[in-house]
Amino acid sequence: MLESLTLDGGQARLSEDAVAGLRARLLGGLVLASDSDYDAACKVWNGNVDRRPALIARCAEAADVQHAVTFAREHSLLLSVRGGGHSAPGYGVNDGGMVIDLTPMKQISVDPQSRTARVGGGVLWREFDAAAQVHGLATTGGTVSNTGVGGLTLGGGIGWLMGKHGATVDNLISAEVVTADGALVTASAAHNPDLFWALRGGGGNFGVVTSFEFRLHPVGQVVGGMLLYPLDQAGGMLRFYRDHAASLPDEAEVYAALLTAPEIGPVGALLMGYNGPVEEGLRVLAPWRNHGTPIADLVRPMSYSERQTLLDEPNAVHGLHRYWRSAFTEVLSDGLIDASLEAAGRFSSPLNALLFFYMHGAGTRVPATETAFSARAAQYDIDAIGCWSEPSESASHIAWVRGVWDRMEPHLQGRVYVNHIAVDDQPEKVRASFGDNYVRLRKVKAAYDPGNLFRMNSNIPPA
Ligand SMILES: Cc1cc2nc3c(=O)[nH]c(=O)nc-3n(C[C@H](O)[C@H](O)[C@H](O)COP(=O)(O)OP(=O)(O)OC[C@H]3O[C@@H](n4cnc5c(N)ncnc54)[C@H](O)[C@@H]3O)c2cc1C
Repeated sequence: MLESLTLDGGQARLSEDAVAGLRARLLGGLVLASDSDYDAACKVWNGNVDRRPALIARCAEAADVQHAVTFAREHSLLLSVRGGGHSAPGYGVNDGGMVIDLTPMKQISVDPQSRTARVGGGVLWREFDAAAQVHGLATTGGTVSNTGVGGLTLGGGIGWLMGKHGATVDNLISAEVVTADGALVTASAAHNPDLFWALRGGGGNFGVVTSFEFRLHPVGQVVGGMLLYPLDQAGGMLRFYRDHAASLPDEAEVYAALLTAPEIGPVGALLMGYNGPVEEGLRVLAPWRNHGTPIADLVRPMSYSERQTLLDEPNAVHGLHRYWRSAFTEVLSDGLIDASLEAAGRFSSPLNALLFFYMHGAGTRVPATETAFSARAAQYDIDAIGCWSEPSESASHIAWVRGVWDRMEPHLQGRVYVNHIAVDDQPEKVRASFGDNYVRLRKVKAAYDPGNLFRMNSNIPPA
């Protein structure tokens, strides 16, 4: 039985009748703490997030979302929207409020003639990729397969196809959105264009997207895989990366990492992809594969779907504990490289990693104010990730990331990819991450969510 809820330090009471009324309206169902599936329904990708909402509204269709949004607003409930549940800070779940769980919204329809797809708000990238690849099609997703289409798209979307086909938001044609007043509206170039602009990079601030319509591209066999270098060659590897990344053609992506290889220990890695004819890709990537003396060269032709899963294990699986800091830099300075190598030499866990994602090509040629996603410069997205399995060790792993970050941050710019903003990033860094779009975003927020109902995200306060 539900008795009371603690909300933002205050108390709100929900009557049993109100809860029963909501339950009766939801096709997907309502999960309460007394239900046997409650514990499983609270879990998100980051096992270090342990929150207990009062109500989990499982939404199977747009009308469910409308009922849940209206209920949360009318009862002043803290509201989380869960797409794939993958955000590192765990925005998809909260303590004491309501979760709108879009997991049941798995509808995917692909039209190979128009090369478009419509995708439900609870779809994961591997599910979308599988449906589109039946027709030899794909659009820009992320670098692992188990992230949600929802959160990744709303923050911008960077990944293997970005150089050739732009960021994920550059391939968004329209979205169906439940706004804070409970209305279901279309956002596109023709309908609610201000909302459409804000959705493309403004995060989950503007409403619940029940379905996304995407442009697709022919994507067949690709080149993928990685080179591994001993740690004493990793400095040279990162300098080679710095010196040559800007000359990559749009079809090619190379990311660098410092991570732990099983039975070897800390290593440097160059992760590679080519999105075009395989022979051409092997030729373009040959100079990279000839650099230094790698321990292993795992680069080869493969299906697009296989490449999308290469980085899933062991680091990106559900349930491990994580803490993550991130920022952009246009320059991989010697100071940053030295600080990174020093950090890799004393990883607190074999699942820790330092990542260097070079963003270039089509996604960086779009003007920064054309969509809310403002990270349009050719630059590196730098991530320091702590990852561990033992909950009792959390403090020491979080301290490792913070210590590493203290040494790396002076070499980085004070802004971050919106989807990588940490829960303890300072407000000025959040603001800077939206760039010159921040003022306009606040105005759109005021128009569509004046009460800041959608605030479990990289939050944009209404103007
Ligand atoms: C291992 C890992 C790898 C990653 N790799 C990449 C990458 O390669 N490229 C990249 O761009 N990003 C990447 N990310 C970041 C990722 O894009 C974000 O974590 C994203 O928020 C995940 O979306 P989600 O729907 O799974 O998460 P959730 O936790 O469900 O949601 C994240 C945020 O989006 C909101 N949201 C989600 N769906 C909706 C919806 N339908 N309507 C309204 N709001 C919604 C939520 O309310 C929340 O604020 C990665 C993250 C991880 C953990």
